[in-house]
Amino acid sequence: MPPARCARCDRPFASSVATAFSPQHRCSACVERPPSYTRAWTLYPYTPPLQDAIRLLKYQGTVSLVRPLADLMLTALPQLDAIDLIVPVPLHHARLCQRGFNQALLLADQIGRHLNISLCYTNLVRITAAPPQTTLSRKSRLKNLRHAFAVRHPAQLMNKRILLIDDVFTTGTTANECAKTMRRSGSADVFVLTLARTIDQHLFPDRMQSPAPYPFSRH
Ligand SMILES: [Zn+2]
Repeated sequence: MPPARCARCDRPFASSVATAFSPQHRCSACVERPPSYTRAWTLYPYTPPLQDAIRLLKYQGTVSLVRPLADLMLTALPQLDAIDLIVPVPLHHARLCQRGFNQALLLADQIGRHLNISLCYTNLVRITAAPPQTTLSRKSRLKNLRHAFAVRHPAQLMNKRILLIDDVFTTGTTANECAKTMRRSGSADVFVLTLARTIDQHLFPDRMQSPAPYPFSRH
């Protein structure tokens, strides 16, 4: 039986029957504080060998991995409603200068070409630099990311349905702050698509940490 997942943030539930009688069941975090995005899809667990590949891309600059990683995303692509624009999660310009590329933009470019949807990568910007999110607690991430993003030309996003793309979904704070920023600027629904999701290994059985895609609801 496929692992049950939150209908909003895609978080896997520990019990595979959690959504048996309520397919739109949401996790407690989404019930208590609904995210600004309409739906997130987090396609694969962030575990080796995918984790190794993403790290090679980000930290070693192995950009030849972009195509196969984007293909992995396309293989597990959910059924998307009409999307007007694809937007990658932006890097702060200092990080961009340091790394030389934005992996989310490279992935978004491939997916945009495949779906024939326009890519919008200069409008949503990151205006505050920050330490890598992976070194921070959830509370620190929230504080760190508040007002970290801005929209330069709100008219371009007005009433547009957005597909936000990133490589890794950790707590969802980054995706949520991006979605919040775009919704405040007048966009319509923001959907989130990430290649991988970090998993609390203490909570989930081994089968959910395999590199195979999570079977997820396609609606
Ligand atoms: Zn949730």
